[in-house]
Amino acid sequence: FKRLKLNVDAKDELAEMGRTFNRMIELLESNFEKQEQFASNASHELKTPLTVIESYANLLKRKGLERPDLFAESVDAIHSEAIRMREMTEQLLLLAGSRNHWNMNPEALNLENLATEAADAFHKAYRRDVHVEAETPAHVVCDKSLLRQLLFIFLDNARKYSVEPIVVTVGSSGASAWIRIADRGIGIPKDDLPKVFDRFYRVDQARSRQAGGFGLGLSLVKEIADAIGADVELDSLEGVGTTATIGLPSAR
Ligand code: ADP
Repeated sequence: FKRLKLNVDAKDELAEMGRTFNRMIELLESNFEKQEQFASNASHELKTPLTVIESYANLLKRKGLERPDLFAESVDAIHSEAIRMREMTEQLLLLAGSRNHWNMNPEALNLENLATEAADAFHKAYRRDVHVEAETPAHVVCDKSLLRQLLFIFLDNARKYSVEPIVVTVGSSGASAWIRIADRGIGIPKDDLPKVFDRFYRVDQARSRQAGGFGLGLSLVKEIADAIGADVELDSLEGVGTTATIGLPSAR
């Protein structure tokens, strides 16, 4: 990239074009570096579960027939690492395909109904209580499946990083409507807060990995929010809890 850049000192129109060209090259360069970083992070993250699967498969090959206790342990480990890899590839595919490939079908939605449906599905999947409260009626026009995905990512984070019931509040005021997801969990340190939306960023690598996270959830949030025209805000206090707010134009 460096070799492509032009030497422009003059102040005429041609030099201005040269400077625009240089800015384009800089953009290409930074995109290229981001892509490289993304591919390297993704490969690294996929390698970890693969290594576990490979070693357990080896163990099974050598000792599986004579050690039934090892057999159960290995199959469990292979199964859960395979699920982890599937979840990660699904998130990667969503991120890689982003926007251009998402089907958008905006429809009229009652946010209280949407939150209640999501809370029920969430309870079934994880046995975690989610309380839904409507401060005021809240209606929007939005793609249901993408908005549900946003809600699910925040619910999932609240589940992973807190133990108490999660509270979802919906409401509207003037031109805007919102869904707020609040947990009373470990919270996010102030310095990390601006970085958690970056791909693969995790506050505490080990702890987050243990919780089942890849550091991709919130970067998907950013993409989805952009695509459906939602505002997303994350407030958090370490040791106190985290509140995520999804804001959308009110439909009534
Ligand atoms: P992950 O899959 O690791 O949870 P995310 O992109 O969703 O990835 O979040 C990035 C990081 O932000 C997480 O690893 C975690 O450290 C922090 N984080 C996100 N949500 C919460 C929350 N509700 N409470 C505490 N920490 C959170």
